[in-house]
Amino acid sequence: MSKRSIYTTSVHAGDDPSSHFGAMSVPIYPASVYSFPDADEGAALHDGSKEGYYYGRLGNPTQAALENAVAELEGAEQALALASGMAAISGIVLSLVKSGEHIVAPRSMYSTTTNFLNHIGEQFGIETTFVDATDAESYRNAVRENTKLFWIETPTNPLVLISDISAIASIAKEHGIISVADNTFATPYNQQPLSLGADAVIHSATKYLGGHSDLTAGVIAGNAMVLEAVKHAANKLYGGNIAPQVAWLVLRGIKTLALRMERHNANAFAIANMLGEHPAVKAVFYPGLASHQNHEIASRQMTGGYGGMIAFDVGTSANGKSVANNVELCTLATSLGGVETILQHSASMTHATLTPEQRAEAGISEGLIRLSVGIEDAEELMDDLRQALGKLPD
Ligand SMILES: *Cc1c(COP(=O)(O)O)cnc(C)c1O
Repeated sequence: MSKRSIYTTSVHAGDDPSSHFGAMSVPIYPASVYSFPDADEGAALHDGSKEGYYYGRLGNPTQAALENAVAELEGAEQALALASGMAAISGIVLSLVKSGEHIVAPRSMYSTTTNFLNHIGEQFGIETTFVDATDAESYRNAVRENTKLFWIETPTNPLVLISDISAIASIAKEHGIISVADNTFATPYNQQPLSLGADAVIHSATKYLGGHSDLTAGVIAGNAMVLEAVKHAANKLYGGNIAPQVAWLVLRGIKTLALRMERHNANAFAIANMLGEHPAVKAVFYPGLASHQNHEIASRQMTGGYGGMIAFDVGTSANGKSVANNVELCTLATSLGGVETILQHSASMTHATLTPEQRAEAGISEGLIRLSVGIEDAEELMDDLRQALGKLPD
């Protein structure tokens, strides 16, 4: 079969109505136990010589439909769905990296991933070197004899920094290192890291894959070697499995992924341009703007568009809080990737526990706002942001 458009794949990926009495929506299988017709079949399921289901933690047909859908969307051989994005991240890292081995990761990225890598450094002696990930060569410079994994996140949370996936993945290949990309911000609509050479991708499906701010889930997709390792360790041994009800909801969200992303991209592009020209805005970070430091790389690797995430700086903490307090259509909240537009002031929310100096080091200026642009009317969103920007105290 020739490769289908992502609009078609989003709607049909994971479909298998003939296995479910023709049901157009895959049924939810809540069973935690599956019976065996006889002892030989039970033995075959246990030793893996026959495919099927026998125990809830190890999967069910609803979860398999979601995994097949994400594998198809990402161009992966296999996928594994888990209970959260962090279950996917901790699961893949601990499945692949041993004590005494080394990881290279971005200095600026989703803060809980940073905290997790620091945690396993202290607990298990798995050290991470944090580099300027906007320069692929900094990964090469950080390679040691014991380097096992390159972690990539692009665009990053919250600064929408861009890494060159194919350059980093090819440095990884030269050294026999596994490269894994967090594709949460871009989604497979905008960017497919596996086609650029990465070995695996992870998602916080809580964000765009689910898309409606109503579930928590994670997914790992990639080549069979990586997926066999994570299925054994992350799923079977660590047990971060997704509930079948949630797997169904993610699959339901994916049906409109392409449609939603097209609109997220268009709305964010328009709003980033508006913010770029607004006199109260000191800086706008959006990979689709020619002013973005890695705009060219973003244009090369983000084939669908530049995503729905924007960061912008209004100068001071008081101004940042004022925007947060004065928006009416946009909602003040810390997640992202849903149909509704939400924003947060990083210095008083996600990065409040850091000192101003630590924030500065992480590139989080005191007036930084992170905006997750939804699928509402772009003009109405811009009107709301303009009226809030018209009320800055400083
Ligand atoms: C939210 C997020 C995560 C963590 O996902 P959870 O579903 O909250 O566990 C990981 N990476 C990125 C880029 C995120 O935005």
